[in-house]
Amino acid sequence: MAAVPALSYSSYRTYQECPLRWKFLYVDRLPEAPRGYFTFGRVIHSVLEELVAPLVVPSARRAGESDRQRTLDEWHAHPGTPAAERWMTVDEMLAAYDRTWSGEGYVSAEEESRYRALGRELLLRYYEFLVQQRPVPVAVEEHLETRWDGIPVHGYIDRIDRTPSGGLEIVDYKTSRDLSNDDARESDQLSLYQVLVEKNYAEPVHGLTLYHLRSLTPLRALPRERSELAGLHDRLGNVYDGIRAEAFEPTPGRHCSRCDFRDRCPEFRAVPAAEGQRLRLLVDRFEALRTEENRLESELRRTAEELHRAAEQLGVHRVRGSRSVAVRRREEAWQYSLDHLRPLLESSGLSSRVSSGTPEEVRRLVRDPDVDPELRRKVAETGARRVKWYWELEDGSSES
Ligand code: SF4
Repeated sequence: MAAVPALSYSSYRTYQECPLRWKFLYVDRLPEAPRGYFTFGRVIHSVLEELVAPLVVPSARRAGESDRQRTLDEWHAHPGTPAAERWMTVDEMLAAYDRTWSGEGYVSAEEESRYRALGRELLLRYYEFLVQQRPVPVAVEEHLETRWDGIPVHGYIDRIDRTPSGGLEIVDYKTSRDLSNDDARESDQLSLYQVLVEKNYAEPVHGLTLYHLRSLTPLRALPRERSELAGLHDRLGNVYDGIRAEAFEPTPGRHCSRCDFRDRCPEFRAVPAAEGQRLRLLVDRFEALRTEENRLESELRRTAEELHRAAEQLGVHRVRGSRSVAVRRREEAWQYSLDHLRPLLESSGLSSRVSSGTPEEVRRLVRDPDVDPELRRKVAETGARRVKWYWELEDGSSES
């Protein structure tokens, strides 16, 4: 079994998308080509970190610590707090932007200058917004890690704010074009950050926010319920187990178009020229056999149906051929519709008795003397009997 490095959100997502790409990145440590939009995101995050860092009032209450807490009022009561001294001017912020800028990964000078202008505009607008609604961050770009019920996880969190209610709000900046409320509600990234903050801070998490910088819109979601976090823990567990078992199968899909490792991937590797002719013949033969198989399958089905119609008309079940006897058999199965069953069971508080709607499950309920007979009758009536006919061949040599 392989050792598993702590999983970040992006490592987890990469493995889910394609385990082989995960191996190229996290085991073989192959570099990826830089991309302009990633560079852009990194630069903006870095300037925002510099901008907001002076506002940070660190939480005195880290999980597991028992020192006396310093309150927010106490911080502000001291003249010359870091926030008062070092809050950046607009010019300082733009200077930081110029200093941090990188042209790595842009496909042209025109693309780079478009992104550069966009970044400047985003930062200026966000600065204005911050001046009007100054947040109370307790951390920026904080690296947190924990073992979540056996799974090592970590992440860099853009910002953790204190809320007026005394809890914490996790903020993740997004420079992407489109973002919706559903993204905030369903983001596994925010769920993982909630777990990291809950394990590392003593204060409760009161909110999760994706901050859409292009529209200055905070997309807010409530903290996840325990059941939702359990779902993420299961998914992380599957990734963790896969990595431990060194299960690194390629999983092709649309994401391959932005994968830098196609020349190493068996899904895209070309057959060596010396083997080309032999394998081409094998593929042609396979294709011909598959076509024949499909043709035989549909001919078999048509013949069985014709035999069945004739047997029905004549009322016979055994039909003799030259060498074999075709015997008609029937198979019966009861089927119950969950759509009809659910309302009945819910109103009687018996939903848990029939979770999958399998005939066995429903029949157990129908035969249960402890269940109201009227309900049992209604449940039984939701079923329909399905009859399936099929043919078997028997040796005909013993029949005259
Ligand atoms: S090309 Fe596709 S299948 Fe191959 S490693 Fe990359 S993402 Fe995976």
